[in-house]
Amino acid sequence: MNYEAWLKNKDLEYRDGILYFGDINTVNLANQYGTPLYVNNEQIIRDRYKKLKNAINFEYKNNEIHFAVKANSNIAILRILKSEGASFDCTSSGEIRTCLKAGISPDKIMFTGNMFTDEDFKFAVGHDVLVNLDSISQLDRLVKIIDDLGKEKRIISFRINPEFGAGHHPHTITAGKNIKFGILDNQVIEAYTKALNLGFMKFGIHIHIGSGIINPLDFEKAIEKFFAIIANIADKLDMVFEFIDFGGGLGIPYNPKEDPLNLGDFINIVVKKFKEIVERGNVGAPQFKIEPGRYLIAEASIILAQINTIKYNGYKRFAGLNAGFNTLIRPILYGSYHHIIKCDNRNENEILTYDIVGPICESGDVLGKNRELSKLKENEYLAILDTGAYGFTMSSNYNSRTRSAEILINNGCTHIIREAEKFNDLIAHQIIPDHLK
Ligand SMILES: *Cc1c(COP(=O)(O)O)cnc(C)c1O
Repeated sequence: MNYEAWLKNKDLEYRDGILYFGDINTVNLANQYGTPLYVNNEQIIRDRYKKLKNAINFEYKNNEIHFAVKANSNIAILRILKSEGASFDCTSSGEIRTCLKAGISPDKIMFTGNMFTDEDFKFAVGHDVLVNLDSISQLDRLVKIIDDLGKEKRIISFRINPEFGAGHHPHTITAGKNIKFGILDNQVIEAYTKALNLGFMKFGIHIHIGSGIINPLDFEKAIEKFFAIIANIADKLDMVFEFIDFGGGLGIPYNPKEDPLNLGDFINIVVKKFKEIVERGNVGAPQFKIEPGRYLIAEASIILAQINTIKYNGYKRFAGLNAGFNTLIRPILYGSYHHIIKCDNRNENEILTYDIVGPICESGDVLGKNRELSKLKENEYLAILDTGAYGFTMSSNYNSRTRSAEILINNGCTHIIREAEKFNDLIAHQIIPDHLK
């Protein structure tokens, strides 16, 4: 894919040297709203959802796409996905509450937590949210809470750890014997037998092998193992499934050297093979579920930031921004690449190599290493791309910096969907003991 097409795929283009996102001039946005600023593009979210939904529908109609709320939990974003018909996957009761606040019905929500507390279970059961268990030991606690609250034992699901994982960084590979998630092959029969004995009548099964997988072949081994496990349960326990959930993990092209994930390949490896398993006949007529976060939302957002310092120390050039790892932690946390471009490229100049750095007092606060950009100036704006997933949700107040505003752009209009924090937000919950007053 050539560079212009790669940008265009993210609804970005230069018009007379000015960067436009969703038909809106990014320099004007930065001037109007201030920086750093998260800019979310409604159309991209809708496009990505529709594209994925249509591709799956074409192979297998009985499917549900659960958006992984941890990637982006802004209520406006959740409402966009709700209006497209999405379901949701939550990792905490806080995320479930945010979904309920967005008007999402509990039967569209799944709770794939790990290390659940009794409070988590009480909240989920009390609100009729389906729980996807991560450990056999949690089953007795969950059943006690269901009984205490006088609820029905509707449907139970376990997260399976198929031992084959993949991902863009070791911390995001979520399958393997040394990984905390899910139930290994050797305990699966015990888990479902126990659920049967405790009176559950309906069952689901789940995997999530990792995150940021751009080569669909990386799913293949895990899925083969998953299917073997499912076949084994179906044979040994005579069990049918209401749903089979393949988790998230679909990657996006962060680097211009990468092409977008080939959805056709993904469908061939995952959905077609799923159909084969179903057609074999003894697993019931399960719904096909997936839980993409990044794929739906990452490319829908950019961060606009301002250069406040250009520094050449005799060896290296630094461009210092007002956004650092408090605003976007992925580069320092995972070594992730985020493409960074100029908002105003009208005076294309000699190309120089910069480290694009933030204002946090740590030398690791680098958003982009050795980036070649036409000569940068103080006060001009840069756009950091693909920040919609794990951007705001992983941001922090480190160095007592307030979190930035989020806006939504749609059809040429802009809407504030989160105000920037103010200083008082930083100290709102602090209490000074009497002897220090
Ligand atoms: C994080 C997560 C997802 C989403 O992962 P992406 O890489 O953003 O698609 C889906 N399911 C579970 C259980 C997760 O923990």
